[in-house]
Amino acid sequence: NADTAMYCAKKNGRDNFEFFSSSMSTQALERLSLENSLRKAVENNELKLHYQPQVAIESGKIVGMEALLRWPHKDLGIISPAKFIPLAEENGLIIPIGKWVLNEACRQNKTWQEQGLMSIPVAVNLSALQFRQSNFLEIVQEALTISQLKPCFLELELTESLLMDCSEYSVRLLKTLRQMGVQLSIDDFGTGYSSLTYLRRFPISKLKIDRSFCQNLPDDSNNSAITRAIISLGHELGLSVIAEGVEETRQLNFLEAQQCDLIQGYLYSKPLDAEEMQKLLGSVDVLPKV
Ligand code: C2E
Ligand code: MG
Ligand code: MG
Ligand code: MG
Repeated sequence: NADTAMYCAKKNGRDNFEFFSSSMSTQALERLSLENSLRKAVENNELKLHYQPQVAIESGKIVGMEALLRWPHKDLGIISPAKFIPLAEENGLIIPIGKWVLNEACRQNKTWQEQGLMSIPVAVNLSALQFRQSNFLEIVQEALTISQLKPCFLELELTESLLMDCSEYSVRLLKTLRQMGVQLSIDDFGTGYSSLTYLRRFPISKLKIDRSFCQNLPDDSNNSAITRAIISLGHELGLSVIAEGVEETRQLNFLEAQQCDLIQGYLYSKPLDAEEMQKLLGSVDVLPKV
């Protein structure tokens, strides 16, 4: 890489070389410092979960929620998971982080149920690395036992890339979770590389249409065709279908006409911190209310 830099420098003149090499080291340093502060944030229990409602189109009621990680950084503000999850997956921090997310999501859900605010499930995103841990099942069971949350109130969001590894072991693992009552959904459906075989092999209960397919509905004819196809595929297989990233009434109207079951998006609510979510749950209809 130094050679490439040198080559570029020679090609473009001296000043460019100075600029290029110093920006590269800045990047590496930034990364290292981000990694170190993420490690500290995990140790000091500084990560937070936000919650985004999932709404049934027909009734307009909140029927679920997704837990989304946030990292409030004292200098940089709230850091998005899109930025630090890939880092955590590279350095292995995703293992303790993922375990914390499971425990915290279960604990919070149980607390809200005990307060009589709702009895709806919480969905937790899983990283492939977490899923491949040999004690993954025990980690889920432990989170349920400690929180005393009934398994039917926990949903695990899997990605197609995670499911690409169609080993007998993962089939059995997912079947065990499903038999316990844990719900399984496929996140960002349609964006992965995997074949549709896993829809038969794995005990999935919900498809989440990726946000990119919901953009510009109904004007974008490709996106309209894709979302319509996913909704009917899901329904034919007996799955419920949720559209992600719904921001406008136009999108909602289209999805409703196509009999999509649920939406999640800014149109209804952005992800909220626990306090805001609690307020929302107390002020609107949640299905089914305890
Ligand atoms: P995801 O699981 O597909 O989550 C949906 C993302 O879409 C969230 O981004 C959410 O804030 C955003 N979103 C929801 N509605 C709208 C909308 O109407 N418009 C727009 N523009 N965006 C919307 P977020 O919170 O930044 O999370 C990004 C990704 O980070 C997640 O995508 C998920 O893959 C990952 N992630 C988040 N939390 C966790 C976690 O606890 N564990 C793991 N492994 N990954 C996580
Ligand atoms: Mg998700
Ligand atoms: Mg998604
Ligand atoms: Mg996504």
